[in-house]
Amino acid sequence: MALAHTLGFPRIGRDRELKKAQEAFWKGELDEAGLRAVGRELRASHWQVQKDAGIELLPVGDFAWYDQVLAHSLTFGVIPERFRAHGNRKPTLQTLFAMARGALANNDGDNCCGAHAQEMTKWFDTNYHYLVPEFSAEQQFELSWEQLFEEVDEARALGHRVKPVVIGPLTYLWLGKAKGSEFDKLELVDRLLPLYGQIFQRLAAQGVEWVQIDEPILVLDLPQDWKNAFERVYNLLQREPLKKLVATYFGGLEDNLGLAAGLPVDGLHIDLVRAPEQYPTILDRLPAYKVLSLGLVNGRNVWRCDLEKALGVLRHAHERLGERLWVAPSCSLLHSPVDLDREDKLDAELKSWLAFAVQKCQEVAVLASAINEPERAVVIQAIAESRVVQQRRAASPRIHKPAVQARLAAIKPADSQRHSVFAERIALQRADLNLPAFPTTTIGSFPQTASIRLARQSFRQGKLSAAAYTEAMHSEIRHAVEIQECLGLDVLVHGEAERNDMVEYFAEQLDGYAFTRFGWVQSYGSRCVKPAVIYGDLSRPKAMTVDWITYAQGLTDKVMKGMLTGPVTMLMWSFPRDDISREQQARQLALAIRDEVVDLEAAGIRIIQIDEAAFREGLPLRKSQWQEYLDWATESFRLSACGVRDKTQIHTHMCYSEFNDVIESIAAMDADVITIETSRSDMELLEAFERFDYPNEIGPGVYDIHSPRVPTLEEIVNLLRKAARRIPAQRLWVNPDCGLKTRAWPETEAALVNMVAAARELRRTGIQSA
Ligand code: GLN
Ligand code: ZN
Repeated sequence: MALAHTLGFPRIGRDRELKKAQEAFWKGELDEAGLRAVGRELRASHWQVQKDAGIELLPVGDFAWYDQVLAHSLTFGVIPERFRAHGNRKPTLQTLFAMARGALANNDGDNCCGAHAQEMTKWFDTNYHYLVPEFSAEQQFELSWEQLFEEVDEARALGHRVKPVVIGPLTYLWLGKAKGSEFDKLELVDRLLPLYGQIFQRLAAQGVEWVQIDEPILVLDLPQDWKNAFERVYNLLQREPLKKLVATYFGGLEDNLGLAAGLPVDGLHIDLVRAPEQYPTILDRLPAYKVLSLGLVNGRNVWRCDLEKALGVLRHAHERLGERLWVAPSCSLLHSPVDLDREDKLDAELKSWLAFAVQKCQEVAVLASAINEPERAVVIQAIAESRVVQQRRAASPRIHKPAVQARLAAIKPADSQRHSVFAERIALQRADLNLPAFPTTTIGSFPQTASIRLARQSFRQGKLSAAAYTEAMHSEIRHAVEIQECLGLDVLVHGEAERNDMVEYFAEQLDGYAFTRFGWVQSYGSRCVKPAVIYGDLSRPKAMTVDWITYAQGLTDKVMKGMLTGPVTMLMWSFPRDDISREQQARQLALAIRDEVVDLEAAGIRIIQIDEAAFREGLPLRKSQWQEYLDWATESFRLSACGVRDKTQIHTHMCYSEFNDVIESIAAMDADVITIETSRSDMELLEAFERFDYPNEIGPGVYDIHSPRVPTLEEIVNLLRKAARRIPAQRLWVNPDCGLKTRAWPETEAALVNMVAAARELRRTGIQSA
């Protein structure tokens, strides 16, 4: 028998009920009992859909308010001092949300006065963000949060067979940050471990048989002391009750394979979607008493599983493992949308190629049944259907466009090279653009006001005619241009009023992209994203931005910067195809964007910015795979940018500050100008520029756009002086950290007044003077 289980199910609800309830609670429109009731209903319904789909062992602990790592911090009592209640009371839901969102100062003598939220960061290489645990050297751990035990009781009361899910001790520590004095957070493990003992004992007393312990860090390059810790930690945990399944996902175990296979636990889950090649070795190394759980259904994408292919592996494993075989999605289904049945507007063909979380559970169950009851009619039918779907998709003319493929095949190395080297280009550009020293610009978007959003929405709903919509956007552009001229900015932008989102806006205009109505995935807290789906070869039927940009250019004698999203970012923030490589998809996107770049140039636009906000987050988890990624990512960018003459200036923008390890590749993109985030780190990131002589022009962001705070002129001047220690002054641009769409106009104008004044001051006094 093969057992069907899941590692976790999305918690947001198919209509984002959890988002809505949490936000209503924060606004005071829903009380705590109401919020808890929504959570309870969602859990009950998620267990039921999984069970109905045929999942035998259901996850508990995958539900969380805001974030599951945060839930663990509460469970272990890892609550920073600033959120602690007086008199050592247990944390409450208020404590939890304060840790997630920060708390305003209050005077009632209760907890969390004016405390800033915990830091948030990406969960491995997904678009999910977790709240980073904060450890102090004196960190004590204490069981402080009952949620897991309550939910186990809840599920059992509903008659479910459950498998609680916890983040393993080493992964939990790895994800956290040592605060205050310097210390090695790994040293905390001996203090943390007794908590796992207590948790397992309580779960055992509740009648639980199996616990899933997530240790995804086993797919990372681990320092030796962390590897060593695994053996010791699990030897200690071995004494505690419960059968233990260690779950790994998002990649292959590689050098940690022997370690993972040998841990003294009862089972191991591996991701065979991301790392199918590890299967034979695992099978050889796994001790004969252990359960092996195969992650065969992709938990991170929207495509239907090729059941026959998965079955090939499964049948083989069954021969070797017999009863010790489990089947699952590759990882928690947290990263896929909830229910394809909810999609009422997708065309039938496309829909037949897709599977969301509910459907993925059904696929897992069918795979298990194909082993357990191969003769059952429904199983035979499901597999036959899967074969037909795969064949149709593989042969569909909607996907395979000979013209796109021919173009891809004809790419020459010269296509991703500018005609001349930077030094020659910049001389031509300077002569043509005639900009002052320390040229000022912005990153692209201006405040997305309520009236802009309303106009866009009315147009979508058909309540506003195309002509009226165009006029509404033109009026926004006029407004933005007027303000920029008044402010005295040097390089202007049109403001991006017509764009809902920097990826979706372009995706909607490209062939090969599809859109769902309900394909939401949690990004962080109550925030969900609905990535567009790349389903076929990508191409650009017609110009996407030229009308807006040329309209804007027509309003001013200053230089208007064209604004595009780059191929890597388009790819990273979409659901990619699974039938061709990411690299190929990036090239297709690059060619489509290249056409737009060339059209903009032909229309007289002299500066074109191609944003690559997601460039760094595409880095693989394993360092050994970095270079391959960086090579095709930089090449794709250059392919999109290099169709222009030397005189046309290409900008790019990246909004983060960890550059040290990728600076060479950023330079290899060969953009004439790059604007980056720096103000939050007080220009610290520029250390990367100390080690490596970045050759082209740079605009290190001089103020943080994430808050309404207006920077002073002195602050900006000081930041620029600091930057000038690392970057020659003649290559410095002056700009904010990122786009201004989330800001309001008053603070935007006030900040830009100071920014322009700072640039003027430097032109007057020179960069050196104190
Ligand atoms: N041009 C985009 C904007 O200004 C860039 C956004 C981003 O980098 N995230 O909004
Ligand atoms: Zn940005």
